[in-house]
Amino acid sequence: MLKKNDIITLEITSLTSEGSGVGRYDGMAVFVPFSAPGDKLKCRILKVKSSYAYGKIEEIVSPSADRVPQDCPVYGKCGGCSLRHISYSAQLKYKQQAVYDAFTRIGKLTPEFLPIIENDSPDRYRNKLQMPAGERDGSTVFGFYAFHSHRIIPCDDCRLQPEIFSAIVKRLSALTDEYNIPVYSEETKRGALRHVYLRKGHYSGEICLCIVSAVDLPAYRKTAARLAEEFPAITSAVLNINPDDTNVILGEQEITLYGKPDITDTMCGRTVSVAPKAFYQVNTPTAEKIYRQAAEFARAEGKVILDLYCGAGTIGLSMADRAKKLIGVEIIPDAVENARRNAAANGITNAEFICADAGEAAKLLRSRGEHPDVIVIDPPRKGCGQAAAEQIAAFGAERLVMISCNPATAARDCAYFEQLGYKTEKVRAADMFSHTAHVECVVLMEGKNNLGEKSNES
Ligand code: SAH
Repeated sequence: MLKKNDIITLEITSLTSEGSGVGRYDGMAVFVPFSAPGDKLKCRILKVKSSYAYGKIEEIVSPSADRVPQDCPVYGKCGGCSLRHISYSAQLKYKQQAVYDAFTRIGKLTPEFLPIIENDSPDRYRNKLQMPAGERDGSTVFGFYAFHSHRIIPCDDCRLQPEIFSAIVKRLSALTDEYNIPVYSEETKRGALRHVYLRKGHYSGEICLCIVSAVDLPAYRKTAARLAEEFPAITSAVLNINPDDTNVILGEQEITLYGKPDITDTMCGRTVSVAPKAFYQVNTPTAEKIYRQAAEFARAEGKVILDLYCGAGTIGLSMADRAKKLIGVEIIPDAVENARRNAAANGITNAEFICADAGEAAKLLRSRGEHPDVIVIDPPRKGCGQAAAEQIAAFGAERLVMISCNPATAARDCAYFEQLGYKTEKVRAADMFSHTAHVECVVLMEGKNNLGEKSNES
């Protein structure tokens, strides 16, 4: 029987959806983070449960052919990447497999699986950074929370972020020291500075600096002005006030410290502005590839499109010029405001945006007599769920296109839609978040009545 601190020899045979390696020992699954399928390891057992155990690498006896040298000083500590030790081509293979497994095992579905959409730039691809502030030896440091903890791991230059973010964060920590801005403490609930949040327009280069603080201090104005002077790419600086004892990063109140509050960028050739609180895809070029795949699945020419969970409207707007009409639904008011202005900025006059819960809006739109032909569904990680799926299916649209950052909930929701009259026809994985275990997917579901008509026609 395995017990804590045992050292065992283990061969890693697969990866979990969280990116941990797994091997079998005495009929038990042993999870070993930062291992790779094909590794032969000496592994120390850290925790034993009834049918599985957790371990950590003591020694790599013989490495997997997928391994590559590690190139980041905080890899394994910062809570961000979990696949950096695996070659990019192998990461793609495992992510494609994870999407296949989710749809076949969780969804019990048998769609056609298209080859994974690759990330052309597996490093420095993020356009958004969020770092908590901490204190080391009396100075402000920014970093990332260690896995499953709120312990800050300082990080000078995250390889997933543009280099300019590292330079801005370095100056911000020096300026907050110079102006004696106290760091907020989660233990004592005292202090001010909580997080830095940066967002950069991939094509425009415009940067929004958002400082999150428990309280407003006059020194933030001087800090923002000096940073904007030193980094002309900073076109907006915002102070977000979050006094609450919470894990949620952004608070309600926002004060513009410099410039305009939103950044403007381009996506699929459309001009888009996004407020700090509005969702914006963090990897613009790969998101554009996903949107193009979604448009291909949607075949929206001359159709009425309903874009649910639309954020600042980017997906629907990328299809709207070919469509008869676009209706977008989003729950965050700032994002809806952005979506309306983005439609106007691109001369799109056939679009309407509603601020509401997706399921509630579906009900309301049906009572208004709307008949969308194509429904785009891009929910957060928890998926749309059964109740919203029922409301969505009740429209009887020709087809549904789902975009998801969580294949497990996507597969579950597609299984609901299968019972509600939609066949999952095609699934395509996409790698937006290289070096992390996250994987996106785009799904085409066709109405079964519609499929029936097609076969009658032929
Ligand atoms: N389609 C957009 C946003 C996708 S992220 C894009 O590609 O940029 C998911 C979006 O769903 C977020 O903007 C989030 O605010 C919104 N959201 C979360 N829960 C929701 C709900 N219950 N109803 C409507 N929108 C919701």
